[in-house]
Amino acid sequence: MTIKDHYDVVVIGSGPGGLASAISAKKNGAQNVLIIERDVEPGGILLQCIHNGFGLEIFKQDLPGPSYAQRFIDEAFQVGVDFLLDTMVLEITRDHRITATSKHYGFLTIQAKAVILAMGCRERTRSQVRLPGTRPAGVFTAGTAQRWVNVEGYMPGKNFVVLGSGDIGMIMARRLTFEGAKVQRVLEVMPYLSGLMRNYVQCLLDYDIELQLMHTVKNIIGKKRVEAIEAVAVDNKWNYIAGTEEIIPCDTLLLSVGLIPENELSRQVGVLIDPITAGPFVDDGFQTNISGIFSAGNVVHVYDLVDWVTEAGFIAGKSAAKLIQNGHLPPGKTIPVKAGDNVRYVVPHTLNPDHLMDGEILIQMRVRQPIEAPVWVEIRSGEKLLHRKGEPYARPGEMVTIPLKSALLDQVKSANELTVSINMR
Ligand SMILES: Cc1cc2nc3c(=O)[nH]c(=O)nc-3n(C[C@H](O)[C@H](O)[C@H](O)COP(=O)(O)OP(=O)(O)OC[C@H]3O[C@@H](n4cnc5c(N)ncnc54)[C@H](O)[C@@H]3O)c2cc1C
Repeated sequence: MTIKDHYDVVVIGSGPGGLASAISAKKNGAQNVLIIERDVEPGGILLQCIHNGFGLEIFKQDLPGPSYAQRFIDEAFQVGVDFLLDTMVLEITRDHRITATSKHYGFLTIQAKAVILAMGCRERTRSQVRLPGTRPAGVFTAGTAQRWVNVEGYMPGKNFVVLGSGDIGMIMARRLTFEGAKVQRVLEVMPYLSGLMRNYVQCLLDYDIELQLMHTVKNIIGKKRVEAIEAVAVDNKWNYIAGTEEIIPCDTLLLSVGLIPENELSRQVGVLIDPITAGPFVDDGFQTNISGIFSAGNVVHVYDLVDWVTEAGFIAGKSAAKLIQNGHLPPGKTIPVKAGDNVRYVVPHTLNPDHLMDGEILIQMRVRQPIEAPVWVEIRSGEKLLHRKGEPYARPGEMVTIPLKSALLDQVKSANELTVSINMR
């Protein structure tokens, strides 16, 4: 394949967010679209997620990660998206010039009319959560262990403790049990689960793996290899509670302590980052503060279901195609969308009410604290209630989505600001 030096749209990253963005840009009129991916094959993190649970929203099917990704890889090839693999993007500029380094093509510069950032996220490591103790072998992030076991065919240990109740940690606790390892328990510093309840039930409860809330690792013990960890209970401020220490012999500690959107390229070009999501501030078309630079997927905020990542990619790709057809996006009123009662953050950060003429706009958020009772998710303009949706509960590990319907066009047009809140019914 010959790589051109000009493209209508260049997408950085070939995970589900990047694939959907590229397909959608092409289907909505972009003439030529390129995906640049640093890995040797497309698909992103899904390639190592061999468990099922993907595609329930989009395909109404329960697919393993690689099968879900393959459907979009096939479609991207069918619609004529170009792929540049084994190539790392090093820099982008405000006028959409991309610098990359490739094993096959060397140092490359490509000019795009629009760029879509779809670089995903990476895991927090031991140093980012400041775990004390010696520095032996045997401390891994859960995603590294996932890659070893599911792709490379290596077991990272035999006797595990998992720190953090994130989804990847719970999924790996089950996976390692399948492979004959002992998973002693999962420790979680918060008073509630940080991943999905369905993963707690299917990965921990079903396999008798204990979850200890408000517990952490006080010490890692071992010289060459982990020999044990010292677990301890904590109070609401994460102070150790004296007298609750317990030595748990193990050879491996897995960390599932949060994901960080990969926004080094975004920051470098001047994309404004929301300190709460650690992703770009975006409008309802996923455009950042820089004209022609869009973003989609986990680089914006960490999603709970991959289907929503794909939906975001479709929107970003469509917006990018619209921009290059007109040279700019048609100007219009921009309304801020703010996090109200009990809401930690909301995406998108702003919306243009005219876009409701094309259909509903999805508003997505995470709650601050679990509310284990029926709630109303409400969108208000000042005191005026525009729309509400009932949910049986709200949990930080599970994203809440509320559609803003096109029937609300006139009311949204006259709003100065929208506030989204979650309160008990
Ligand atoms: C380690 C890990 C394990 C996960 N396991 C699960 C799981 O088991 N189950 C689950 O439901 N969800 C899991 N997730 C969540 C998963 O990331 C998302 O559901 C989904 O894959 C996000 O899609 P994305 O397209 O935003 O990002 P990704 O799938 O992460 O794709 C981003 C792509 O961008 C590429 N990239 C980044 N920077 C550059 C650059 N500078 N140049 C070129 N290419 C670049 C990366 O190589 C990657 O292929 C996991 C996440 C991580 C980080």
